[in-house]
Amino acid sequence: MQALARLYEASHGASTPQEIIAQAVQELFAGRIAVVSSFGAESAVLLHMIAAVDPATPVLFLDTGRHFRATLEYRKTLAERLGLQNVQDILPLGEMLKKEDPFGALSMIDKDRCCFIRKVEPMARAVAPFAAWMTGRKQFQAATRATLAVFEAVGPRMRINPLARWQAADLKAYAEQHDLPVHPLTAEGYRSIGCMPCTRPVYEGEDQRAGRWAGSEKTECGIHLSGLTDRLKNLGASDQ
Ligand code: SF4
Repeated sequence: MQALARLYEASHGASTPQEIIAQAVQELFAGRIAVVSSFGAESAVLLHMIAAVDPATPVLFLDTGRHFRATLEYRKTLAERLGLQNVQDILPLGEMLKKEDPFGALSMIDKDRCCFIRKVEPMARAVAPFAAWMTGRKQFQAATRATLAVFEAVGPRMRINPLARWQAADLKAYAEQHDLPVHPLTAEGYRSIGCMPCTRPVYEGEDQRAGRWAGSEKTECGIHLSGLTDRLKNLGASDQ
C-alpha cells in the first residue's frame, strides 16, 4: 500500500481537491470509502465537496461525549444544509468509559488515555470496514503537518487528505463562494475545534492548532497516528 500511496501522490500532483475526491469516491475506492469529520471550524469545505460528488458517502463523526454544544448543533445544521445522507455518530465503548472514566474527568489526568477511549478506539472500529477514508487535514495547520501527503498508507488501507495542499485563503474563498455555514465558535477566536475541555481560542500569531491541548505537549489526539494502526491490528481488521 505504501507504493500505491506514492504512485497516487505522484500522479495527482496537479489535481484539485474536487478531482481527487471524485476519483477516490467514484473510481479508486467506490463503495469502500468514508470521510471522517469533526464538524469543526473548516469542516464545511470538505463536506461540501463530498456532497457534490456523492451525498450518500458515509460521514463518520466521533461523538466523544465532550464536544461543545455548538459543535453538535453545527453538525446538524451543516448535514441538513449540505444534504448529507449518511452521517454516523461513532461512540466510545460504554464498558471502557464506565471502567476508566466513570466521572468524565480522565482528560484532566491522562489525556492520551482519554483520547484513546473516546477517539482512537472508536475510530478504529469505524474505519475497519472501509478500504479508505478521507480527512480534512491541511499542511498549513501546524508545523507538524507541513509535509502532509494527500495519499497515506495506513496498513492495508489508504488515508486521503484532499485539502492537504490548500491554504487558508483557498478555504476562505471556497466557503464564501458557496456561502457555507460557519461554526459558531469561530467568531470567538476558535480556529481548530475539538473537545470542550481541551480546546481554547487561538491568539494572534499562533498556529491554527495552538488552542488544542494548550499547556501540554500533546498536539494530536492519535486518530492520525500509529496508535490507530495498532488498534486496527488488535481488532483483527488489518487485512480487510
Ligand atoms: Fe478526552 Fe480531551 Fe482527547 Fe477529548 S480531546 S478525548 S476530552 S483528552
